[in-house]
Amino acid sequence: MSLTLSSAHVHTTFCDGKTPAAEMAKAAFEKGFVSLGFSSHAPQDFDPGYCIEPSREEEYKAQIRALQREYEGRMPIYMGIERDLYSCASPQGYDYFLAAVHYFRHPDGHHTPIDAEPEKLRRYVDMYCGGDGLEMARQYFALLRDYVLAAHPAIIAHFDLIRKNNARLHLYDEEGKAYQDMALDSLRPLAETGALLEVNTGAVARGYLTAPYPAPFLLKEWLAWGGEVILDSDCHDMRYLDTGYDDAEELLRSLGYSHAVRLGKKTLWERYIV
Ligand SMILES: [Zn+2]
Ligand SMILES: [Zn+2]
Repeated sequence: MSLTLSSAHVHTTFCDGKTPAAEMAKAAFEKGFVSLGFSSHAPQDFDPGYCIEPSREEEYKAQIRALQREYEGRMPIYMGIERDLYSCASPQGYDYFLAAVHYFRHPDGHHTPIDAEPEKLRRYVDMYCGGDGLEMARQYFALLRDYVLAAHPAIIAHFDLIRKNNARLHLYDEEGKAYQDMALDSLRPLAETGALLEVNTGAVARGYLTAPYPAPFLLKEWLAWGGEVILDSDCHDMRYLDTGYDDAEELLRSLGYSHAVRLGKKTLWERYIV
């Protein structure tokens, strides 16, 4: 059993998750979670199958509020949202939001998903990055950095999401100095915002990666800059509510972390020992 016993990054059938919200809450409670936060993908005006339908956003809120009442005094439930840079929805009215960049927007208004079909990302690199994977990485980190600086989210979601498809496409060298310096330069200004850097085990649970986002070299510097981390499962299926947490906690300890932050029992955020 891991020490974290929480996830602030959980999807349901309101967006692209497989488990209905009520079943997810029940699974978390039965696992002994101290808290749970729902974070469906915020409404967008493109790629509709992936996010909450705009007409169902109020229903999403109502259902999470009903679950909050059902579990009151037993397991606090929070109403969050994972808001993409190109979402058309407001993060107002939620307990917290995670900022994420899942797409590149083309000059003609179309979008390329970053973490979906690898061939789509390959085509984007060929068409808009002169075939240079590092240029794609530069664009990605610039978008995410500027979004976080402008929007003040509670959580920076999967900071190096581009690793997912790079594992298959080998667009750039993740161990290379050029890439690592670029990633660090984008992360550094975010340490001062107070946002939590998410250690996200979702791609591990789904078999795409063997280590969570973000890579250890980023977590190491984040600690040196005084940043705080939150462990999240980015769960789309209740069987994987805390998959990868033991290894992620071990990784944090090996990097020198003594604590992490989770959704609290009495306050929105609380620290706990890892
Ligand atoms: Zn995401
Ligand atoms: Zn997510």
